[in-house]
Amino acid sequence: MADYFEVHDDRFHDCLLGNAWVETLFTGSLWAEGPVWFADGEYLVWSDIPNNRMLCWKEGLGTAIFRSPSNYTNGNTRDRQGRLVSCEHGARRVTRTEPDGSITVLADRFEGKRLNSPNDVVVKSDGTVWFTDPPYGILSDYEGYKADSEIGANHVYRLDPESGALSIASDDFDKPNGLAFSPDESILYIADTGASHDPNGPHHIRAFSVGADGRLSGGDVFAEISPGLADGFRLDTEGNVWTSAGDGVHCYTPDGTLLGKILIPEKVSNCTFGGPRRNRLFITATTSLYAVYVNARGVQTP
Ligand code: MG
Repeated sequence: MADYFEVHDDRFHDCLLGNAWVETLFTGSLWAEGPVWFADGEYLVWSDIPNNRMLCWKEGLGTAIFRSPSNYTNGNTRDRQGRLVSCEHGARRVTRTEPDGSITVLADRFEGKRLNSPNDVVVKSDGTVWFTDPPYGILSDYEGYKADSEIGANHVYRLDPESGALSIASDDFDKPNGLAFSPDESILYIADTGASHDPNGPHHIRAFSVGADGRLSGGDVFAEISPGLADGFRLDTEGNVWTSAGDGVHCYTPDGTLLGKILIPEKVSNCTFGGPRRNRLFITATTSLYAVYVNARGVQTP
């Protein structure tokens, strides 16, 4: 079997397991995205955006429909109470699924105007909800419903779910996309995938310092992703960034050094750590869900 990985820095060997390989857990999506691990139930939920559904995979049981229709849900995460938080392209909103299954709308407008199509979301330990709002879900009738942007710009937002206050966290992105905090939450990494519709557009991840008041500063480019885009990514406990790219998952150190790649035969959209020890990397890639055990652990969330 050919190597499933590509080493760019010898330290990447420490992140891998000698006998591991990439498993294909499911094939049959149109565009798989938004993986989120439910540690309490030991299952993975992810989005199949154009098919307007969410799927669920559990070891030994396989794949089932989790939610259909899903309002063309894209990115998913869980808050500190373990509740599912989702970005719905179709309804142009961020929602929370309560333990009884009911849906609470967290955000659908900014200053009276509809959001574009929330793409990816992360919840900080203080409960604030951070999400990106590029126009991918309103550009066509494929991943949502074609419509004009009411806001006319693509921002990153911060929501205080207690007060309901929604504020702009950053307003200088072309198309903000994946986002994740460093393990100590002092850094917020945010991808810009403007190159999806402009060959000269950005295809990088930026790193922002997170102030005690929740304000972002800095925002220098952390890594240029090539080939492909940083649609989504997660961090391990050492602060390494495991990001989607056109040829697989790329792993970067906190100083932005590319350690290596896990090669995947389809374009990768996102990934997340799961399994009982959070050392199994689940990878959503175009039509499929893949998984590989690695010698790294994802940052602990519910
Ligand atoms: Mg995305």
